Amino acid sequence: MKRAIVLGAGIQGVSVALGLQQQGFAVVLVDKAPDCLMRASFRNEGKIHMGFVYANDPTFKTSMLMLRASLSFSRLLDEWTGMEIDWQALTSHPFMYVIARTSLVEPDRLLQSYERLQHEYRTVLKQEGGSYLGQRPDSIWRSLSAEYLQAWIDEKFSVRGVQTVEASLELGGFRRIMRAALDRCNTIEPYFDCSVESVTRTAQGFRVEGSRRDGVSWESHGDIVVNCLWDGRLKVDEQMGIPPQRKWVYRLKYRLLGTLPRKLDGLPSLTGVLGPYGDVVRYSHARTYISWYPACMRGWTSSLSVPKEWDRLCAGQLEDGEASRIARDALAGFEEVVPGIAQTEIDVVDAGVIFSWGKTDIDDPGSELHERYHIGVHHYDGYFSIDTGKFTCAPLFAQEFLDCLR
Ligand SMILES: Cc1cc2nc3c(=O)[nH]c(=O)nc-3n(C[C@H](O)[C@H](O)[C@H](O)COP(=O)(O)OP(=O)(O)OC[C@H]3O[C@@H](n4cnc5c(N)ncnc54)[C@H](O)[C@@H]3O)c2cc1C
Repeated sequence: MKRAIVLGAGIQGVSVALGLQQQGFAVVLVDKAPDCLMRASFRNEGKIHMGFVYANDPTFKTSMLMLRASLSFSRLLDEWTGMEIDWQALTSHPFMYVIARTSLVEPDRLLQSYERLQHEYRTVLKQEGGSYLGQRPDSIWRSLSAEYLQAWIDEKFSVRGVQTVEASLELGGFRRIMRAALDRCNTIEPYFDCSVESVTRTAQGFRVEGSRRDGVSWESHGDIVVNCLWDGRLKVDEQMGIPPQRKWVYRLKYRLLGTLPRKLDGLPSLTGVLGPYGDVVRYSHARTYISWYPACMRGWTSSLSVPKEWDRLCAGQLEDGEASRIARDALAGFEEVVPGIAQTEIDVVDAGVIFSWGKTDIDDPGSELHERYHIGVHHYDGYFSIDTGKFTCAPLFAQEFLDCLR
């Protein structure tokens, strides 16, 4: 039996591991966290992007990638988990896109891009099949009236918006499903609480070495290695002699979870476009997710590795003062968009790392952060490195990796 060592047990590593075991591999799945999907794949917004947010990529390549990835997401995970996942039960209320008066992209250009998305959606469904989280609606967006918008949104921020079918996944429930799928596979061996320090090519394949949380060292041997380490990926690639070819940035971004005030009970999920605004994600049976970019984006580095200090924040270990300061600033910012939101009771504040190619932040219309298509699978003779790019893309890239292996 061939043996694969998969580095990182986020959505990317778990998708790869499940796919590999179905191909007959014995898999070692390594993560420094105590369990799978504990980092970026748990502390993000969970939006399965169809491409609406990438209207500032003039090539349209990012929107196309997101569309293809979103339409294969549920099909691939159903296949690898061996289940028919109840996607409806995990799905948020659909997103309204609120077009800011200060949008980086003119409203008419945004609408043109959404028109194109609608057209491509039909084409991709026809050519590649699939569904959007189990659904195949005819139409993926429609304009909203100014009256509807004004029920929730301050007119100083916006008087235009569209309703989309795009949604997020409730990540606690999603994590439990992925965990149960791993538990059912007796050919996937979890090495949790184990950090990866080096990968070496040997005559037989690869040796991976690192240390456990208790300081004891570990090593494992495999025929192939798949690097899905996200914020740890570049360092291991470089140690393998594969330095990055472009400028990159790691951002530390916080999320808030809480309960909206009564008077906002009917507030839909929403995303402000296009620029450094924020999102609200509404679920029927889970807390509301809130993020306001100017207050929640609090770390930026172009070093090879992220600062050690970020580890604590990404494991959700904030001090009370820190958490309440971030929550207060974020809600005060969002109050200018959704009056009343400052009364939200927040009970979770934690952070995740976003890796992207680029040099400047999203308030720069020319920033590479508005593009996300230079991502995916890299192959170096048995050593694979996957730049997930977005949560949305992980199953598609796991499939591309399996195709590459064949
Ligand atoms: C606040 C926020 C909001 C986001 N919103 C969205 C969204 O709405 N939609 C979307 O599509 N994407 C979103 N993203 C991006 C998305 O979270 C990531 O693209 C995705 O989760 C990356 O998955 P991954 O498996 O590659 O990384 P991770 O889930 O981070 O997995 C990598 C794993 O590697 C482990 N690891 C790292 N280094 C080492 C090491 N040296 N040794 C051992 N283990 C190591 C980590 O513990 C981790 O478990 C968001 C990100 C953030 C932070």
